[in-house]
Amino acid sequence: MPIDATAPYDDENIFAKILRGEIHCDKVYEDEHALAFRDIAPQADTHVLVIPKGRYVSWDDFSLNAEDAEIAAFVRAVGNVARQLGLVEPGYRLLANIGQHGGQEVPHLHVHLFGGEPLGPMIA
Ligand code: IMP
Repeated sequence: MPIDATAPYDDENIFAKILRGEIHCDKVYEDEHALAFRDIAPQADTHVLVIPKGRYVSWDDFSLNAEDAEIAAFVRAVGNVARQLGLVEPGYRLLANIGQHGGQEVPHLHVHLFGGEPLGPMIA
């Protein structure tokens, strides 16, 4: 069930548990501000989720409340993940689902990174 993008942060959400090391993830990248791991139900040959380490429910929460340096670090981290996975050429896709209409299921901001194959016009 999609979440409310403006809800208070829930420390028991699955990505919070992954960040605390309570649940295993297939990690592909980590730095001071971000963690990236493979999606458990991949929708493309490469499907990775990049999350900030801070407690942000959604893109709305992050863009409103994160420090500028934290936002910059997260944007850089997403780029680092794509480069590390060798996706820059021939390209990849970023997607963030936000709130009810966006179909966001996990209430910790995450960016989907798809690649490794031609993706066509859109992934729902
Ligand atoms: P959303 O719809 O943008 O919130 O996407 C949540 C994503 O998290 C979905 O693509 C799920 O397959 C993925 N997911 C849920 N639980 C896990 C997990 O434990 N590890 C990795 N990916 C997960």
